[in-house]
Amino acid sequence: MARIYLSPPHTSAAERELLLDAFDSNWIAPLGPHVDAFERELAAAVGARDAAALSSGTAALHLALVLLGIGQGDEVFVSDLTFVASANVVRYVGATPVFIGSDPKTWTLDPDLLVEALADRAKRGRLPRAVIVVDLYGQCADYERIVDACSRHDVPLVQDASESLGATYNGRPAGTQGAIGIFSFNGNKIITTSGGGMLVSNRTEWVVAARKLASQAREPALHYEHKLLGYNYRLSNLLAAVGRGQLRSLAERVDARRANFEWYRTQLAGADGWEFMSEASYGRSNRWLTCGTLGPKAPINQSRILALFESENIECRPVWKPMHLQPLYADCACYGGDVDQRLFETGICLPSGSNLTDDERAKIGRVLATGFGSSQ
Ligand SMILES: *Cc1c(COP(=O)(O)O)cnc(C)c1O
Repeated sequence: MARIYLSPPHTSAAERELLLDAFDSNWIAPLGPHVDAFERELAAAVGARDAAALSSGTAALHLALVLLGIGQGDEVFVSDLTFVASANVVRYVGATPVFIGSDPKTWTLDPDLLVEALADRAKRGRLPRAVIVVDLYGQCADYERIVDACSRHDVPLVQDASESLGATYNGRPAGTQGAIGIFSFNGNKIITTSGGGMLVSNRTEWVVAARKLASQAREPALHYEHKLLGYNYRLSNLLAAVGRGQLRSLAERVDARRANFEWYRTQLAGADGWEFMSEASYGRSNRWLTCGTLGPKAPINQSRILALFESENIECRPVWKPMHLQPLYADCACYGGDVDQRLFETGICLPSGSNLTDDERAKIGRVLATGFGSSQ
């Protein structure tokens, strides 16, 4: 049996056909009709006024900070528990990240810590220039309280929705809760273009500016005229075609990921010491990855269950290593962090592909039965 991956691409005939259409049209460039259509369709899907298709989620986050005018000497608050890209972009613009720990109930940015951190920074006369909030593993953060805290200090909110496309917050699609939202279409995300990203906003002028910055900030002149520092961050027309096909299946992909979670829930019902990442009442997670923690009562610890999965050629991983524990960010301030550390030390992400087969599930089920023994 082939290796079972954590979150492999899941393709269908639609994107193959669209990709061939893009190829045959000879729009083999980081512009073209599929790029424009992908932007329109993604914006419509998430209820944003406009969207800019970019080469990665990281590029989208980077441009979000450029659009907000953040640079040397500035501070930006970032969710502590995340993939490193959320923090790296702060350094790209010469600013300094300050990390905010997670709420143990949602695993996302703790609004109480945010309130405390903002008050503390305000007292010192040095407010952050933005807050980057991550929707972890497909679950939206607690935006009502986060938006309230940010607007009280007039600090813009950037939503890193790389993992939460297709999720909802208070019935509204993830990605539009902040001033700017960003998505990733990396190979392991809920939909993929192999690599790609999108920046969305209800402020059309920001999206227009993002498209320009992503094309080396070319001025509208026949000759090459430049006033601003730009980047080569546009999405290829070929990849946009793939993205359009993928987007058409989004609702089914979310249902499949949520069905994985339900399957794990029955498999691990009554397992000692095991606790799933819970779904907050304010939203519907896309359950991009099914995750949970192994407490002291669990019959197996994190490193042993990871090794057990690996011995069966199944990919299973710890929860993200928090940014405040990364050598790269050892010198940065962090509010909270103990919750994040505990999630990292006890949490695992289970295979969660939307194309997981019954045979693969059966194999995973046998590993879980071995790991949790008779406690099940
Ligand atoms: C995947 C991911 C990114 C980066 O997206 P890329 O498209 O790989 O650049 C950023 N933030 C989070 C939380 C992610 O999971």
